[in-house]
Amino acid sequence: MTLATATHSSVMQENHNRSLVPAILWAILTLCVVLMPGCGEQDLESSGGSIEDPRRSERHRMVDEQIIPGGVRDPRVIAAMRRVPRHRFVPDEYALEAYADNALPIGHKQTISQPVLVASMTESLKLTGHEKVLEIGTGSGYQAAILAELARQVYTIELVEPLGRRAAAVLTELGYRNIVTRIGDGYHGWPEEAPFDAIIVTAAPPDVPQPLLDQLAIGGRLILPVGEASQYLVLYHRTPSGLEFTRLEPVRFVPLVRETPPHRDDHP
Ligand code: SAH
Repeated sequence: MTLATATHSSVMQENHNRSLVPAILWAILTLCVVLMPGCGEQDLESSGGSIEDPRRSERHRMVDEQIIPGGVRDPRVIAAMRRVPRHRFVPDEYALEAYADNALPIGHKQTISQPVLVASMTESLKLTGHEKVLEIGTGSGYQAAILAELARQVYTIELVEPLGRRAAAVLTELGYRNIVTRIGDGYHGWPEEAPFDAIIVTAAPPDVPQPLLDQLAIGGRLILPVGEASQYLVLYHRTPSGLEFTRLEPVRFVPLVRETPPHRDDHP
């Protein structure tokens, strides 16, 4: 943020020329107020965030009123939720609701998950910035963008081609360079790129897919919804001595579909 840097260097000069202090500070303050309404706040926009962002304050409200009260604590996850422009991932007709506390339709009978669920599933992966992550169910691409803010490299697979193509286009437009997208059945994972330090599945299979467990690195975590009529989030952690398994809260996800359905582009 250029003005913040300017503020810093001007303050450094204070020691050398005390008479200029009030004038310089006043000039900076005025520039700040006139040119940048958000000046002085921590700069949270990054590679993925848009520079012109009319929805920024709504997004901060989403974090303050949904994500933090929802129990998410990891400061990196919280910062990513403040940065990624969710409104760019939802269809135009739902753009106004992009920061509301619910899942939204994205076409083809699929949904973008509720923000707090995206944040808490992401938090459970304990990403530090060095990981190679696999996502099954790209959908809108929003979860992939959150992961890309927090990990080194993201691989994401979507079964429904038009969704996968749209997500890839939005992610490119937003400047994400560390996401690789693929169209196909994610049940089999991405064996050529395995092992993964973290795997997240955003559609529910009846049972955990064995190929995904096989593609989990030692120390790696896999989170997914499992079940049909009733579903639970399940977290696996591969330790050097084996797999740990934790059942978390009940959830409601779209099913993980096993074979490519006929596409009806005219009937989303
Ligand atoms: N992570 C998404 C949410 C997507 S909803 C987001 O942030 O928007 C789940 C997605 O999983 C849907 O888009 C659905 O088409 C996809 N899906 C279902 N079965 C799949 C499979 N076998 N392989 C890959 N994707 C699948």
